Amino acid sequence: MEKGDVKPLLIAIDGPAGAGKTTVSRMLADRLGFLYVDTGALYRGVAFEVASRGIDPEDEEALSALAADIDLKFGHTEKGVRLFSGGKDISNDIRTPEITMLASAVSAKPVVREALLGVQKQLGAKKAAVFEGRDMGTVVFPDADVKFFLIADIEARARRRFLEYKDAGSQSFEDVLEDMKTRDDNDSSRAIAPLQPADDAVIIDSTKLPPASVVDQMVAVVLLKQGA
Ligand code: C5P
Repeated sequence: MEKGDVKPLLIAIDGPAGAGKTTVSRMLADRLGFLYVDTGALYRGVAFEVASRGIDPEDEEALSALAADIDLKFGHTEKGVRLFSGGKDISNDIRTPEITMLASAVSAKPVVREALLGVQKQLGAKKAAVFEGRDMGTVVFPDADVKFFLIADIEARARRRFLEYKDAGSQSFEDVLEDMKTRDDNDSSRAIAPLQPADDAVIIDSTKLPPASVVDQMVAVVLLKQGA
């Protein structure tokens, strides 16, 4: 299979934190020559603005005003795809443990989800894209051509996250595991767009699979989908 051989499909990849979505979504997009969109970064971007503007995440009115005013955009630089808020590159700022937890909290607010829905739909309008998130296959793109739901044991997920951020040194393994349990709880139990597989999603357990094997399975499903 050569890049460009694949029809411009819309591929949705959902699953809990640390299941390996980012790595495999990037690899899959690269193999297919598709755009890769990390929708978690958008929720993190909102959380970053909530924190920098000193907004109370429980203040619906303030969140509503922020949602109307916020200007989040992905852009390509020599460092790769970056997230900009009001023109400022915030890609590094959104990866702290504090923003991670705040993103989980603000993502439960309907006004925030509503505001980001339009942004995501617009990014997917031309298809030929791999979207990574929590509700891609259920809410944002219920008509996606191919849907995957990636899972893994919580210990394996926490270990991956811990190793990823080990150099930043801000969290012990136990802290990462605790945060992940809280986030799993928040993301799965919220009233709006809870984390759950779409009925037609292909579920892949990545606990014991290296990313390349997960991507091979995904490519096989994609090729089957388009009858190649
Ligand atoms: O994927 P990532 O861990 O960067 O996402 C950060 C948070 O954003 C998640 O914990 C989740 O609460 C929220 N999120 C969401 N819907 C998405 C993507 C992320 O609610 N599509």
